[in-house]
Amino acid sequence: MLFSRLLIPTLKENPAEAEAVSHRLLLRAGMIRKLASGIYNYLPLGLRVLRKVERIVREEMDRAGAQEVLMPAVQPAELWHESRRWQVYGKELLRFQDRHGRDCCFGPTHEEVITDLVRKEVHSYRQLPLNLYQIQVKFRDEIRPRFGLIRGREFIMKDAYSFDADETGAEACYRLMYDAYNRIFTRCGLVFKVVEADSGPIGGSFSHEFMVLADTGEDLLASCTSCDYAANLEKAAVALEPGSASKPAGDALELVHTPKVRTVEEVAAFLKVTPADIVKTLIYETDEGSVAVLIRGDHEVNEVKVKNLLGVTDLILAGLIRVQELTGAEVGFAGPVGLKLPIYADQAVARMNAMITGANRDNYHLKQVHPGRDMKITEVADLRSITAQDPCPRCRGALMLLRGIEVGHIFKLGLKYSKALKAAYLDAEGKEQYLYMGCYGIGVSRIMAAAIEQGHDANGIIFPVALAPLQVGLIPIALNDPAVRECVEGLHADLEAAGLEVLLDDRDERPGVKFKDCDLLGLPFRVVVGAKALAQGAAEVRHRGAPDNLMVPLQDLIPYLKDQIAQELHV
Ligand code: ATP
Ligand code: MG
Repeated sequence: MLFSRLLIPTLKENPAEAEAVSHRLLLRAGMIRKLASGIYNYLPLGLRVLRKVERIVREEMDRAGAQEVLMPAVQPAELWHESRRWQVYGKELLRFQDRHGRDCCFGPTHEEVITDLVRKEVHSYRQLPLNLYQIQVKFRDEIRPRFGLIRGREFIMKDAYSFDADETGAEACYRLMYDAYNRIFTRCGLVFKVVEADSGPIGGSFSHEFMVLADTGEDLLASCTSCDYAANLEKAAVALEPGSASKPAGDALELVHTPKVRTVEEVAAFLKVTPADIVKTLIYETDEGSVAVLIRGDHEVNEVKVKNLLGVTDLILAGLIRVQELTGAEVGFAGPVGLKLPIYADQAVARMNAMITGANRDNYHLKQVHPGRDMKITEVADLRSITAQDPCPRCRGALMLLRGIEVGHIFKLGLKYSKALKAAYLDAEGKEQYLYMGCYGIGVSRIMAAAIEQGHDANGIIFPVALAPLQVGLIPIALNDPAVRECVEGLHADLEAAGLEVLLDDRDERPGVKFKDCDLLGLPFRVVVGAKALAQGAAEVRHRGAPDNLMVPLQDLIPYLKDQIAQELHV
């Protein structure tokens, strides 16, 4: 391919709007352009990267026995009413009406559509198991679209949905997908970790996320340094601490005057105690009413755990006025003693003998509060986020916290959608049974960005060979030298004939500009042909990211490159 003929609008300067490295470099390398917030055009080289990801995904999904389909982006509201998600999904769901006033949405995911298709077409156990997937545009009206392709509003997803006769079959399919995902991300050249993920109100342990490790990741993961335990922080269970709060440590409750002392830090400093002696009382509004959550002062509440415990979809911290209505005091002085709300306490709080809490009275706190004696706790549970200081919940080894970008998510759905949409089949005895479902997503466009978050340096992108838009950048030094021109044109044709993907930089630019662009684009191999090397019958080859050039005799160039590429693609 000729550089001069392709639309590769590289930029010298960093675009101001881009915070994430991948966003910056995708723009600078002329691979994407923004149309609107979270909505991007893919230019020729960007599209080539996307297609490479898609190809790997297709090959591995097909290999695992899944069949490709393509579902519509526009979906009728009726289906979402059937699953009851029309109300639940919130503002991420882009809703609109057609010319007849019929409610529609732009699909953020396709459980409803696929279940509708399957309930109409699958009737017998003989048609099972079935795993259908598509690679398609999704729209989610994200509240904070950011980092370019990492969190877009319109993005490309691979979504697969499996249908099995029973739970055993569904679990076998889950394992097939688990293995296929491992192969996909390995082939993409990504460094990733599989973590246990939150499976939401559906419960169960059958949900895993595939996380590309990167400091810029939005997700936090807890990973054990001794065993293979790894979990999303949202999900990671906190091991129960030893001991119990059988007896109050002190005597009666003690009311202390704490003027304008509100935060944990302020209370600790004022009363000369540690944050671990204090308990925070957080007032939440949920779709089932207001609740209080008690968390030790040195811990952080985990809202996903709270949501799952309560079985609610909305959980929002109550505003200033609401807190005052419910507790009789300003924010900062709420406490569990005498509070007329359901109280959910973290397990560490339930173990305390004498804690300090707000007194539900402006400028006052209570000391010597005992969880068993002084309040009515509705339920004690694990409600906080794990920290690097906590032991591994599986083996009590040391944990480390890592950042990751979620590129894939596999999920055992069970009967949730088949029951709601009445998707059933007849078993061998002629009895009607609901279909067991699973769903399996991959952020195809997000992978492009995640690969760059992982592979870059000061000069630009360092693509894994499997994802690079082209494998070789061919750069002539002085194209006006007839010997050089003849050589590079010959090489270009020969390399392409040998099946290599080559970008010949035939532009009328200084070599420095061409080197810079070749690095910026992240092409894995740079082959430079100049008069000097040519006199020795050689070309200078540099592996992107490696410090030195290598002189490779022209006749060895094709086998050399093919061998190097094969080595990197081999997984
Ligand atoms: P996240 O937690 O990042 O919002 P999610 O859990 O909502 O993602 P899923 O519903 O599991 O996402 O979607 C499957 C995959 O689609 C995710 O693993 C992710 O790689 C990708 N994805 C989700 N939302 C976006 C987005 N806004 N932009 C790009 N890719 C996305
Ligand atoms: Mg997810």
